[in-house]
Amino acid sequence: MMYTPQPAAGHATATVKLYSDTLTLPSPAMKRAMFEAELGDEQAGLDPTVNALCARVAALLGKPSAMFLPSGTMCNQIAMLVHARPGDAILAHKDSHIIAHEAGAAAALGGGLVTGLAGEAGQFGPDDIQAALRAASRYAPEPRLLVVEQTSHLGGGSVWALDRLHAVADEAHRHGMAIYMDGARLMNAVVASGVGARDMAAAVDSVSLCFSKGLGAPFGAVLAGSPDFIDRAWRWKQRLGGAMRQVGMYAAACLFALDHNVDRLAEDHRHATRLAEGLSSLPGLRITRPQTNIVLFDTLATGITSFELRDRLATQDVSITAMDRYLGRAVTHLHVDTDAIERAIAAFRNVLAPSRSVPGSARRR
Ligand SMILES: *Cc1c(COP(=O)(O)O)cnc(C)c1O
Repeated sequence: MMYTPQPAAGHATATVKLYSDTLTLPSPAMKRAMFEAELGDEQAGLDPTVNALCARVAALLGKPSAMFLPSGTMCNQIAMLVHARPGDAILAHKDSHIIAHEAGAAAALGGGLVTGLAGEAGQFGPDDIQAALRAASRYAPEPRLLVVEQTSHLGGGSVWALDRLHAVADEAHRHGMAIYMDGARLMNAVVASGVGARDMAAAVDSVSLCFSKGLGAPFGAVLAGSPDFIDRAWRWKQRLGGAMRQVGMYAAACLFALDHNVDRLAEDHRHATRLAEGLSSLPGLRITRPQTNIVLFDTLATGITSFELRDRLATQDVSITAMDRYLGRAVTHLHVDTDAIERAIAAFRNVLAPSRSVPGSARRR
């Protein structure tokens, strides 16, 4: 059973905030850019700053068209609504955001039959797609869409290699499916791998980018694809209430993020690596080696649940997320510096000292 990451009491106020890269606050310079943005009616196509952002992201991703949306979740939902009809099969990793963290929206809104694929680190290969598809018949749902998550959140921020992306895209296309990339943390993948955003997006038909994760903007995501895809997406944006007004001030924050907060993601990745190194020597804690800014750890052998660990760390002024009973998560971002990482490692060491991990102390929630 997965639990939605929800910081418990005390977590929001901890000084060392490792619970998510969504909690960053806009810097004074970002706020200045927002304050000075030229504005207009977004849904009439008259907000110059939104238009500039869409053009910039379309070029970045090598897609002809793009639209500004409130969130990555709305990008995912609109992509599924455009690519698939009710009853069509949508294939995605079983731990993907659309399955684990969007409150069942794919079923509630689009009526797609979302099928979860297994595979290490939130990824799968062409064989897994092949195996999930039924022989074409009027009894079987029509496979219409494959979703890949770059980076894979519950895969521990793992990066899809370019050849693997192409391999699964080729397989999807061979079966007449479109492929959509949930690129909430695409720029983390780009910075970590050195592969260009354009090259990664070239493998897929449509792609999104979220600005309120590691990029540090307070709001916004961009969905990109062919002109026809974006045309159809506009009708859903309108239907869902995602058509907006003078949101250029948010688009300005996103443009600022592209100018100032992309290259520095490497720093977040270094911090995550250092954190994983520091934690790997602690008794019982099993660490997944991070490729980007997410560190997952299994607490089973420590004798305590991730909830207990989270609560103990909160007493040390450190916040993490308990994802599942024995699965904890720490995420690095703009507001986590080297000093915070060292403090976090010390806090983990304190709360996992042998005297504290009494067998049988695991609390069930
Ligand atoms: C956060 C996230 C989203 C959704 O983005 P929001 O802007 O929070 O709606 C989608 N996919 C992944 C993998 C994410 O981590």
